[in-house]
Amino acid sequence: MSKKYQFETLQIHAGQKPDPVTKATGVPLYLSNAFTFDSADQAKNIFALEEGGYFYSRLSNPTVDVLQQRMAALDGGVGAIAFASGTAAIMGLIMTVCQSGDEIIAANNLYGGTIGSLSGTMQGMGFTSHFVNPRDLKTMESLINEKTKMIFVESVGNPNGDMLDFDAISEICHRHHILFVVDNTTPTPYLFRPIEHGADLVVYSTTKYIAGHGNVMGGIIVDSGNFDWHNERYPLMTTPDKAYHDIVYADLGKSAFCTKAVAKTLRDLGGCMSPFNAYMTLLGLETLSLRMDRHVENSRKIAEFLQNHEKVEWVSYAELEGHSSYELCQKYFPKGFGGLFTFGVKGGLEAGKSVINHIQLFTHVTNFADSRSLLTHPASTTHAQMSEEERLAGGVQQGTIRISVGLENVEDLIDDLNQAFEQID
Ligand SMILES: *Cc1c(COP(=O)(O)O)cnc(C)c1O
Repeated sequence: MSKKYQFETLQIHAGQKPDPVTKATGVPLYLSNAFTFDSADQAKNIFALEEGGYFYSRLSNPTVDVLQQRMAALDGGVGAIAFASGTAAIMGLIMTVCQSGDEIIAANNLYGGTIGSLSGTMQGMGFTSHFVNPRDLKTMESLINEKTKMIFVESVGNPNGDMLDFDAISEICHRHHILFVVDNTTPTPYLFRPIEHGADLVVYSTTKYIAGHGNVMGGIIVDSGNFDWHNERYPLMTTPDKAYHDIVYADLGKSAFCTKAVAKTLRDLGGCMSPFNAYMTLLGLETLSLRMDRHVENSRKIAEFLQNHEKVEWVSYAELEGHSSYELCQKYFPKGFGGLFTFGVKGGLEAGKSVINHIQLFTHVTNFADSRSLLTHPASTTHAQMSEEERLAGGVQQGTIRISVGLENVEDLIDDLNQAFEQID
């Protein structure tokens, strides 16, 4: 689109024109694996990356393409590549720029599944990850060596909602000419746009708020287009690729990363997003700003209710004064913190379990970012296998309850919590 539209407009229009043949106004769902060529020469050019075009849906598909362009527009990037899940997107990002022997500096409060992949499977394949407290900038910088390819952080720590000084981390990365990668799943580009604070690549599990209704998996990488790939640290980008007539990806400028992510990572590792999932995700994305505003509004009311309830011992919500991330939240998240936070009830483990057992409207699951309101008791589920020390380092006490505030009427949600608190036995 030529005019610079605002977020609410882009989430409905970016990346799509009415279908030129059928004049369909909705994004058509192209459940086709393959697309025909006009001529043998055109096929040859597409295969050699000399011409764009659809030919096989593992690499590109018109429905998935609309989602990619829309997410790039919403995040202020130059391009985006979709994957089957958030996990596939994160691993795809690493495989696009790293090879065995390389090192990653990762925040120690990442999503548990990401920590598991980095320290388990990826470590086994020769990718070393150093986990560090993302507030400890000195240690973070001291871990950088000639093998380091990126600093990988999450914009909001899960579950305890701690935040980072993005500008300071970006400054460290760029002084050392290494990638600054941000998993921005929890706030979404509506509440926070990492590229504006120096992120080179942004990654999302679209399974969460982007799709938003708890019914479809997906992931996406957005490229800022700002990283200079003519950098000896990244030989995969600077050495000629025999598979494509000695192409040097770094020479492609702003399309370097996305081209390689498709031509190598999706081609060789699979992991593409299904067109059906892209279609569902686009439906959700059209209302992202409206939903996030409501998640924020409901969360504020629930945090206030919890803060004043006699059975509640503490509330960890970064918009409340006294929270360790209060100042960072004010600086980086002016539209609001979001819908995921924690609180503790008096009485520890048993009281926490009792609340979970008595909720009626809230759902007890370990997912988050659904239109439905959800509660999790981490000490008996997601964090049950950890030592006491690891659990506390992750901000989880015995009585901690994680709440993902949905889009229901907030009075109904508060009534449900109230009756569950009354029954703590
Ligand atoms: C859920 C999640 C992931 C993993 O995404 P999947 O779509 O479940 O594979 C990664 N990062 C964050 C922050 C998440 O919340």
